[in-house]
Formats: sequence, C-alpha cells, structure tokens
Amino acid sequence: MPNPAAAPISIPDPSCMDDFDPSSLLVEHALERIHALAVPVSGTERVAIRETLGRVLAEPIHSPIDVPAHDNSAMDGYAVRAVDAAGDGRPTALRVLGTSWAGRPFPGPVGPGECVRIMTGAVMPSGADAVVIQENAEAGPGDTIRFDERPRTGDNVREAGEDIPQGAVVLDAGQRVGPAELGVLASLGTVEASVRRRVRVAFFSTGDELRSLGEPLPEGCIYDSNRYTLLAMLRAIGTEILDLGVVRDVREEVERAFREAAAAADVIITSGGVSVGEADFVKETLERTGEVGFWKIAMKPGRPLAFGKVGGALFFGLPGNPVSVMVTFYQFVQPALRRLMGEPAPAPVRFRVRCTSRLRKRPGRVEFQRGVLAHDETGRLAVRSTGGQGSGILSSMHEANCFIVLPLESEGVDPGSEVDVEPFAGVAGAGA
Ligand code: AMP
Ligand code: MG
Repeated sequence: MPNPAAAPISIPDPSCMDDFDPSSLLVEHALERIHALAVPVSGTERVAIRETLGRVLAEPIHSPIDVPAHDNSAMDGYAVRAVDAAGDGRPTALRVLGTSWAGRPFPGPVGPGECVRIMTGAVMPSGADAVVIQENAEAGPGDTIRFDERPRTGDNVREAGEDIPQGAVVLDAGQRVGPAELGVLASLGTVEASVRRRVRVAFFSTGDELRSLGEPLPEGCIYDSNRYTLLAMLRAIGTEILDLGVVRDVREEVERAFREAAAAADVIITSGGVSVGEADFVKETLERTGEVGFWKIAMKPGRPLAFGKVGGALFFGLPGNPVSVMVTFYQFVQPALRRLMGEPAPAPVRFRVRCTSRLRKRPGRVEFQRGVLAHDETGRLAVRSTGGQGSGILSSMHEANCFIVLPLESEGVDPGSEVDVEPFAGVAGAGA
C-alpha cells in the first residue's frame, strides 16, 4: 500500500490553517484509496424476488413483456373513435355497445357512431383510440351518450409498452432493490433474480472502560454504544453481521479478535484504540497482522482512522468517539461496503442552503457538523445547527437530519450565510 503521508496535499495556504496537520490526508484522497481496494465480492445466488429486497442485482433485468401489456384506459369513461367527434360545435352522440372492465375486456370492435363504456385499466376495444372521461359525457336517449368535447387520438389511453417495452433493460446490474424495484420486478412477472452474495462484516469495540448492556456500570465505565450504531448502519445497508463484542485493551486479545474476524468476514470494523495512546493497540495490530494505511484525515470529527487489509478482509479501524464512528462510517465505510456489494458508489448529494446558526470552526479540516434541515417561516429550506458539536455528543446525530459540510479553509459561518448540506440518506437517519 502506498504511503499515505507522502501524498501531495494541495490546500490553499497551510500557514493560515491553525487546525491543519500536514501529515493528514484529504477526505477525497482517503476515499480514492478506499475505492481502489474495495472491489465487488464474487459469488451470486438466485433468490425469489421477495428476497431481493435490500440486495444488489448481479445481472440486468430485461422485460419479457410490454408493460402495460395492452392499450388500456387511464380513466373511467367511454372508449370512442376520435374521428367520430362532430367537430361542428354540436354535441356528439354515440351508441354504447357494452362495457370493458379491468380484467374483462369488451370482445367486439367499435365501429362508426359507436362507443364502449370503459373502466380504468380496462383494455381498449379494437377500433377505439381515445377515452372521453365520464364526467364529460351525459346519458342520451336509449343506449346513447352525448358529449361536447373533441377528443384527440390517445386521450386518456395508456399505450402498450409505454412504461416498459418488451426486451428493454429495466434494471441494471448493480442496482440495489428497494420498494420501487421490487414492484417493477413483480410487474414483469419475474419470479427469481440473481443477486450478489451478501457481504460479511465482523465488528468489535475496543476499550477497558466499555461494558455491555445488562452489566453493572462501575465508576469510570461507559456502556458500549458503538456496536449498536454500527449494527444499525450495517443492517440498513444489508450486510451479514458478525458481532464480536467488546475486546479489552490487551495486545494479545486485540490480535486474537483481528484473526478471528479476518477468517470469517470480508470486512472488519473496529472502534476505539486507534489513536496513539498507551492502550491503543489497533494500529500496531494492523501492522503485525496485515497491511496498514494508518491515516490522520483532515476532517472533524474522525481524524484518526486505520484502513488496510487483514488477510483477504478490508479493515476499518474507526475512532472511539460515538459521533466519529457514525461520521467515518457514513463517509468512508458506507461507500466501500456499497462497492463490495456491487453497487456503483454515487457521489453524495450535497446542496447549498442558508444557515440560521452561527457555526464555529477553525481552518485546517473539513468538518461534518450536524444540522437540521427544515422550512423556515417563509417556506424556504434552511439549516440550523444541532448545537454542541463534541464528538462524544451522540444526541447530535439523533437530532440531525443532515451534515453541514464545512470546507477545510472555512473559519466558521455567520447566521444567514450559505453552507453545503448533505441530507442523511439511508444509513444514518431514523427512516432508514
Ligand atoms: P479511544 O479512541 O479508544 O481513545 O476512545 C475515544 C473515546 O471514545 C473515549 O472517550 C472512549 O471512552 C469512547 N469510546 C470508545 N469506544 C466506545 C464505544 N464502543 N462506545 C461508546 N464510547 C466509546
Ligand atoms: Mg480506547
């Protein structure tokens, strides 16, 4: 692995960046290195389409049929021949031959001066080419109707194949299946589809101070929350999960956990122990058991991050602070996992909005502050800060619905200025 510290870092003017550490790596360079190592897992399986939800398609899906299969009515009304409309200002009168129901088409053709009562979704009878909606028609004498409008060919008609023509690629390989995709597969009559095998992720927390839920909490100890945020984000992405619990800050135990994880998983995620304190064994264990890219990244929160490989497994040593875990997972682990799963990793959606809070920041690192996007009193979208931005304040992630992304050189933001926001999509928000 190339030495990340040797990477050229081009920043506007390091001398005015009091939070800049020249040995740190830019976020985009870190992402490039991660992408270079994150290649899709091989192995696919055919599963019933219900089981494709949250999985990634291994092959493109071609439509075996036209969707819809027939020309059909988009409205309740009368299937008519557009040429029959009088067009001289007088109402048109047509004879009603019968009814075309959804699922029970009218059998015969429609000739001059004739029409068919038709329901939404019912097949257009042959000869008819437009639908006059029932609100615009009135009953005439006997089995006739009258209307004033001049329908044009195709009015209120859904054409066969207008949604999906037969043979078209409907979903590409690499497509994650969500509710809409599952519906599309069903609309084609697809019974099974080929998906990539699930990515296996092993994770554990490190720290002598950590207690698992249900254990008493002696002085100086804290409950292990990182395993829960990690579990939740991994579930939202749809990986297989191997929870290896809490590992004490003991060199041999950390190493044992590394080996166990590497033997079982495609990806290893740890939290804590990645700085340079006396009890921080993650970096040296990665050096001993695998290949290291130990990074300080020019970002906040989440400056220290260990990345590399242990055997065949990708390794992410996330910082210990709970917000840092979520931010680094979101920005680095998530795109890597998506690539391993076979998805193309799209660039995050970011846009600029007015910020109503004052944001404090020192230049030198990109900051991912937590924000709340909402409509202001004039109906325009604006963002405000969740308040305290300490990397231990996990409630800031709970209150937020977006990151406010402040660039390296930013020295803070005055209320009313515009900022870049990245709405939580998928793994961080409660709606995941
Ligand atoms: P470390 O990187 O191990 O020095 O941890 C940094 C901070 O994060 C310390 O305050 C730890 O107590 C805290 N921390 C580490 N791991 C966890 C965890 N699993 N859950 C909650 N807090 C943690
Ligand atoms: Mg620790």
